[in-house]
Amino acid sequence: MTTEELWQAVLAQIQLNISPANFATWFKNTEIINLKDGEVIVSTPNSFAKEWLEQKHNRTIFKILHGLDETIKDVKYVVGRPALKVLTRAWSAPSNNQLEFAEFKTDKETNLNPRYTFENFVVGPFNELPHAAALAVSEGPGSVYNPLFIYGGVGLGKTHLLQAVGNEIVKNFSKKKIKYISAEKFTSGVITSIKNQEMEAFKSRYRQIDILIIDDVQFLAGKEKTQEEFFHIFNALYEKNKQIIISSDRLPKVIPALAERLRSRFEGGMLADISSPDFETRVAILKTKAKERRTELPDEILDYIASQIQKNIRELEGALNRLVVYQKLQNRAPDIETAKLLLKNILMSPPKVATPAKVIKEVALFYDLREKDLLDASRKREVVYPRQIAMYLLRSELKCSYPFIGRRFRGKDHTTAIYSFEKISKELESNEKLADEITLLKERVYEH
Ligand code: ADP
Ligand code: MG
Repeated sequence: MTTEELWQAVLAQIQLNISPANFATWFKNTEIINLKDGEVIVSTPNSFAKEWLEQKHNRTIFKILHGLDETIKDVKYVVGRPALKVLTRAWSAPSNNQLEFAEFKTDKETNLNPRYTFENFVVGPFNELPHAAALAVSEGPGSVYNPLFIYGGVGLGKTHLLQAVGNEIVKNFSKKKIKYISAEKFTSGVITSIKNQEMEAFKSRYRQIDILIIDDVQFLAGKEKTQEEFFHIFNALYEKNKQIIISSDRLPKVIPALAERLRSRFEGGMLADISSPDFETRVAILKTKAKERRTELPDEILDYIASQIQKNIRELEGALNRLVVYQKLQNRAPDIETAKLLLKNILMSPPKVATPAKVIKEVALFYDLREKDLLDASRKREVVYPRQIAMYLLRSELKCSYPFIGRRFRGKDHTTAIYSFEKISKELESNEKLADEITLLKERVYEH
């Protein structure tokens, strides 16, 4: 079992005991990032989730972990994850000392992770073109498509494909200098170099690269200084026929605040998009992944998953993982009814729209209040403040009228709504904690 599977096992049990909304709110994007000397480190996406898990769920989490592995003595929670985490860390169950998963380490020089290859990349009509282009580039870097610009939605295989090109080039051209970097990481590199007055060294490092792979370039939107540095590096490499490979979640022309000259550079090469996988390919991907995990699940179940998750391969994998864990713990495959039950939380995804009811529900959940208290006349501070935030969100996100907002809160009049909106707006300018809370709330309000 890997730490990932260990955490999946914890989630699977917790999920049975709390409401789906609660589960999604506090356990989304959590994972075990380390397990050493009996201490488990769980990473959480933000400080609210961290505190919440520490205060409300630590005992249960510990009990489950300890039940799965007696050597576990302590659980700690941290915010965020280290940037260069080893993607899959092997963890061996005490009862079974054999490692089930190969250990994949990200190379420090290239940032490439050997788990992403062409061999385990499933090709279908939806990604045929980017795949073919990527393959061609890996056979003749700098000579076919330059730059190669791959775009498509979240979880559809952009990073996998970019990394596969890198890994293939390492294999075929061992002397070439390759670097994979996310645009986000590149940006922080630029900022640090400016701060430490090391910009020249930074640039010259990049100019020595033969193959530069930049992931999620949409992140450069609005970052003028970084764009400028990137532009110069791009030109220097391009003129020397060095290969540049880029991914983005959208076409260059719809990346906001992207300098015209960079846009035209991006558009000057090959643009290839990954769309959504068709049903057959989804099943094929599930089969490949199950095989990688050395498990086999009945076709009926794979078909079920593929029919339910259509737009995101990462989610497809997440669903499969749940079932693989079940299978490993129970030593048998789940039947279709059990599978449906195990996947219930993952699959509940009504359309992404915010409604007043959703705003109120999420605010109540976030501040651990009952909706009734939030809506009623209570003047307790712990209620008044969240109520003002709810009113603020109704106005800012849903453009509700002030009288409407007042009525929602058991007959308060519109001046209360105006006051709340203005108070929170003003406070937002200087209160960072509040700004973070509002950001998180907005995410939740729009989430499925
Ligand atoms: P993106 O970068 O587009 O958000 P990723 O490359 O991170 O997506 O892919 C998400 C997950 O789905 C990864 O685990 C990846 O291995 C897997 N995946 C995506 N596309 C494929 C594919 N065509 N074949 C096999 N696995 C895939
Ligand atoms: Mg990615």
